[in-house]
Amino acid sequence: METECGFNTVLLHGVEDNNPFGTTQVPIYQSSAFRHENAEELEKIFNNKKAGFSYTRIGNPTVEAFEKRITKLEGGAASVACASGMAALFNAITNILQSGDEIVAAAGLYGGTVELFDELKAFGITTRYVTENRSEAYEQLITDKTRVIFAETIGNPKLDVTDIRAVAEMAHSHGLPLIVDNTVATPYLVQPIKLGADVVVNSSSKYINGNSDAISGVLTVGGSFQWEEERYPLLKPYKQFGPMAYLAKLRNGLFRNTGACLAPQNAFLNNLGLETLGLRMERQCANALELARFLEGLDADIKVNYPGLAASPYHGLAEKQFHGGYGAIITVRTGSKDRAFRIINALKLPYILSNIGDTKTLVIHPASTITAHLTEEELQQSGVYDDLIRISVGIEDIEDLKRDFENAIKGEK
Ligand SMILES: *Cc1c(COP(=O)(O)O)cnc(C)c1O
Repeated sequence: METECGFNTVLLHGVEDNNPFGTTQVPIYQSSAFRHENAEELEKIFNNKKAGFSYTRIGNPTVEAFEKRITKLEGGAASVACASGMAALFNAITNILQSGDEIVAAAGLYGGTVELFDELKAFGITTRYVTENRSEAYEQLITDKTRVIFAETIGNPKLDVTDIRAVAEMAHSHGLPLIVDNTVATPYLVQPIKLGADVVVNSSSKYINGNSDAISGVLTVGGSFQWEEERYPLLKPYKQFGPMAYLAKLRNGLFRNTGACLAPQNAFLNNLGLETLGLRMERQCANALELARFLEGLDADIKVNYPGLAASPYHGLAEKQFHGGYGAIITVRTGSKDRAFRIINALKLPYILSNIGDTKTLVIHPASTITAHLTEEELQQSGVYDDLIRISVGIEDIEDLKRDFENAIKGEK
């Protein structure tokens, strides 16, 4: 059924849950542990001989329902939900890397991810950043120590677009997996696994949840990458699982031992919010395109960056790779930090806060907030400037948004 159905139908009907009472939403199984009839049964569950639940740090039915929906939407083999996007990223990387290993990563990464990669230096894991988001640029940085290629589908806040098919093919030709952060694009725009990515991470705090009422992350494995034993010795104990060794190690090792689990209450909120992901993305992408075009023509000193605009160097790729829009994040350069602050302060509708993917429009000055901890070089690579405003476009009526931005930009002069 799913292959014939559209995104929203799959989202609403694609997963069958165990539902003894016919509830319309997956209930919150608010239980730390799960009791069993006898010792033999719990033994089987603990040793993967029988499906079932034992302890919520390891698995929970509400959380599992969320994981199954994301697996379906991302077109992957399995997912692991985590307490935050950062927890998902940490698990995705350290599941296979050890001291001495290297990451080759995109330039315009989310500030938190750059900081995480900085933290990993203490464990002997280092990162080399490309300066241009092209597969040849990644390839040039590969050494015999490289173990992962990492990119964001749409960089936050650089808004560069990764050619996933090209980078995945290049990575595979070197026996390396591609891990993609799909937070800004969401599976509504693109399913990176279908283009060759091996692990996809989403900060589900953003569009997937949609209402900004819970922090969470989720990683999804494609399940086809062949993990070479010599290169990924951490997966050796799980080699009987073949391409699923990565997932087996996560589930039976790192994920449960780092206590990165998602709370059932938050999984419930995600399942609820997820139902409108397609509707929200459709509206938010349409709003973003119209607002970007409007801002582009509004003031000669305002420089608009949005993959949906023909002026974006990534427009052609975005058009080819995405379906249904170009995402809902826009950045604008205003000429100075002072002017950026004045515009932000003059806006009436958007919330001033550090988040993206809410139903409401959000604005932030990244250089003084979310990327304030980055070095000058990291800032440049991340496409963050002192005069830059990031806009996460919501579902408001577009005419109201346009009027508000027009008043703020014209009025503050
Ligand atoms: C927000 C975000 C993260 C981190 O997710 P949290 O849920 O806040 O931990 C990672 N990557 C991207 C692209 C993000 O926007």
